[in-house]
Amino acid sequence: MANIRPQDMGKPSEQLCKIENLMPLPAPYDKPGMEPDFSTPKDAWKDTYCTSLDGFVGNETLVRPKTKEEEEAMVKQFLTGLERLFSDETNRNYLQPLMLSFEYCAKCNTCSEACHVFKASGEAEIYRPIFRSEVMRKIAKKHFGGGGLLSKFAGGDIDINFETIFRLGELAYRCNLCRRCAQTCPLGLDNGLLARELRKVFSMEMGIAPKPLHEKGSMLQLKTGSSTGITREAFLDMIEFLEEDIYERTGKQYKIPVDKKGADILLTHNAGEYMAWPENPAAFAIIFEEAGLDWTLSSELLGYDNVNYGLFYDDAQSRKSVLVK
Ligand code: SF4
Ligand code: SF4
Repeated sequence: MANIRPQDMGKPSEQLCKIENLMPLPAPYDKPGMEPDFSTPKDAWKDTYCTSLDGFVGNETLVRPKTKEEEEAMVKQFLTGLERLFSDETNRNYLQPLMLSFEYCAKCNTCSEACHVFKASGEAEIYRPIFRSEVMRKIAKKHFGGGGLLSKFAGGDIDINFETIFRLGELAYRCNLCRRCAQTCPLGLDNGLLARELRKVFSMEMGIAPKPLHEKGSMLQLKTGSSTGITREAFLDMIEFLEEDIYERTGKQYKIPVDKKGADILLTHNAGEYMAWPENPAAFAIIFEEAGLDWTLSSELLGYDNVNYGLFYDDAQSRKSVLVK
């Protein structure tokens, strides 16, 4: 929450919403006493992380280099990655939509009104969908300034240094890639895609990606075959547990179909549902059974876990996740 005044830090969100005209939180946090408190950024964070955006650390893998030489090496890696983004040889699949979104923004800000992060932050400038895109444009203009593909863009009034680059790395994760902005842009431009392409540079060129995505997502998926670590046996156990749970709650005995040959419907859930929200697969089972549908779940890996974390930050990881299935 970048524009919260220091004296208001620690106040319950209900009060802060009134002070800052913030978007109220959804249930259950809309009730008194349920709101998570805001805490002040810690001074010590500055020594380890890049906090110059707003004092907070969202991406804990953006760790400050220890020497000037390391800083310079990181800036160089970022610029090399930027060159690869704009090359047909190294980014063929994304180059066309990237160029469209990069090149044609009319700065009308229609997208800002659609962005829940921008609105929920009390319309803090750093959360405006085009904020990070503009920083990216300025850096690209400055870097490619001498001619070539990007030399026609106006701008470039920015210093390319470690701090600027790392702030951009933090900004790339202050967006959840929902692409609501792209749906409302009159020109069809996609600021979510630009955020995703920036993440790609940090991950693929600099080895920087948040642990929940990379270590606990992609790496776990490559190791166990599943993003949640669920094996086939564990999945089948879970289905049994769901049947028992439904019986205890409703008194009705349902047999949840798994690997039923010739079923009309193959139902695939988000893999995380089985771990975090088993009531959702249970609710589907009850509704489908009561509706008399001919359906099945699948105990094949692709049937119960088709998540690909790489899609959120890294093409190489995305490819590996597809191949492991
Ligand atoms: S993709 Fe990012 S910038 Fe666009 S609306 Fe969603 S959170 Fe906002
Ligand atoms: S709505 Fe589209 S054209 Fe307007 S500022 Fe946003 S990205 Fe640019």
